[in-house]
Amino acid sequence: MFWADSTVQDIEKRFSEKAASGAPIVVRDEKTASGRVHVGSLRGVAIHGIIAEILAGKGIAAKYLFEINDFDPMDGIPAYLDQEKYAPYLGKPLCDIPSPDGAAANFAEYYAQEFIGVIKEIGFDPEFYRSSEVYRSGRYNGCIKAALESAGAIREIYKRVSGSVRDDSWLPVQMICEKCGKVSTTKALSFDGSMVAYVCSDLEWTKGCGYKGAGSPFDGHAKLPWKVEWAAKFKVIGVDVEGAGKDHSTKGGSRDVAEAIAREVFATEPPFNIPYEFFHVNGRKMSSSKGAGSSSREMADLLPPQILRLLLLQKVPQRVIDFVPDGDTVPILYDGYDKLAKSYFAHAPGDDSRVFSLVHFPAIASLLAERFLPRFSEVAYLVQMPHIDVVAEVEKQKGSALTEGDKAEIALRRSYAKRWLDAYAPEDYKFDIQAALPAQAASLSAIQKEALGKVLGYVRSQSALDGQGLHTALHDIRKSMGIEPKDYFEAIYLSFLGKPSGPKAGWFLSVLDKAFVEQRLSEASAIARPS
Ligand SMILES: [Zn+2]
Repeated sequence: MFWADSTVQDIEKRFSEKAASGAPIVVRDEKTASGRVHVGSLRGVAIHGIIAEILAGKGIAAKYLFEINDFDPMDGIPAYLDQEKYAPYLGKPLCDIPSPDGAAANFAEYYAQEFIGVIKEIGFDPEFYRSSEVYRSGRYNGCIKAALESAGAIREIYKRVSGSVRDDSWLPVQMICEKCGKVSTTKALSFDGSMVAYVCSDLEWTKGCGYKGAGSPFDGHAKLPWKVEWAAKFKVIGVDVEGAGKDHSTKGGSRDVAEAIAREVFATEPPFNIPYEFFHVNGRKMSSSKGAGSSSREMADLLPPQILRLLLLQKVPQRVIDFVPDGDTVPILYDGYDKLAKSYFAHAPGDDSRVFSLVHFPAIASLLAERFLPRFSEVAYLVQMPHIDVVAEVEKQKGSALTEGDKAEIALRRSYAKRWLDAYAPEDYKFDIQAALPAQAASLSAIQKEALGKVLGYVRSQSALDGQGLHTALHDIRKSMGIEPKDYFEAIYLSFLGKPSGPKAGWFLSVLDKAFVEQRLSEASAIARPS
């Protein structure tokens, strides 16, 4: 069974009464809008999104809430921003910092809007809300009061669950300094039931203003430390299902602390957890500050929605996703998609068909119709041959007339193959057919030239070339001559591309103009080595 279906079964079991009552099961995820959002954050979006979709598909009321966390302080400046310009804002809530473009409502909103755009493009439809709204509307007031009154219990939970020791004066609240507006720099000193006394002082990474005073911690004037805040969210938002990334899910980690606080301080049962692994790009853990090449926006430009959803959903949450945009990952993803399509189009029961249907959300449901799927790697080669009519070539492969759906798929793959080639594709997938015999061909050995001569003989003997026939003939010639495969194929690639490797040779030569192939093979097999 597909992992999300079995997870939903477990959720149904736990919330059977709620489901029967018709009240919606609340699924929640969040992202702190501290900069350009890394593609790895889409994993949580997709895991929660698919759970909500499957619940709804079974007729169970579900509500998917997504928090834009804009109340966390800026604790670092993304590398792509002007460091000097943003340094004075370090320690302030993200919603109180100006937007980089001067147009968005604030810093957090600027990055949130881009991320929300991507979430919608890949077909997820959560209800978005802002952390600042929940604080300022007073909805957290009850939890803030309870936390302050249970400061000792919270310190004890930190120590018991995570082993981290807070001194006896530590209070679970951070006031927003009424003088400088920073939240990271304040330390609460005491709580008298309505007011918190605090001091604003320097940290290693940002300066405080030295103010000492007292104020109300309610209605958005203070923030809970994040593990306490997480527990408050469980209660105030009424969360039933919320997964968490691996970094939070270790034993004694932040999730364990938040769950203990939820139970013991806020008297609420924590939500159903779905711990999930990292999403690595080029072998590295997600990092929002690094920037180029791995933002969710860039990935949504590189991959069509159904392929991006497949990348995010096909693996069980407990396994790492490794994405290498400039390696084989992209062609392999398309091959995987084509394999699922085959099962789906054949009405085969099982996970493959199920996953294929789940990656096509309603707006792209037309892609569930059967159509011919040319291999992405081959399309990526074809688009590099200017004289080739890609549509005609795919029609040849299919062996019958193309439908409108086939043509749309070709257009989609052409366009995404071009983007991938421009931005990321490895050298193995790129080539230029050389207009004249490349100079490198002068280094061919006698046996390599003899082999090219035999290939020429075969090509001349055919009235037209087809990929499969040529593929078989090339291998027959190689075997009959006893030449090493590396030397043999290198001779072909050097003669046409001026480099030692290239696409599958039989297929590659078959799509070139036959007269051109004959001319080049004749030149290359006859070329004299410089003495
Ligand atoms: Zn201050």
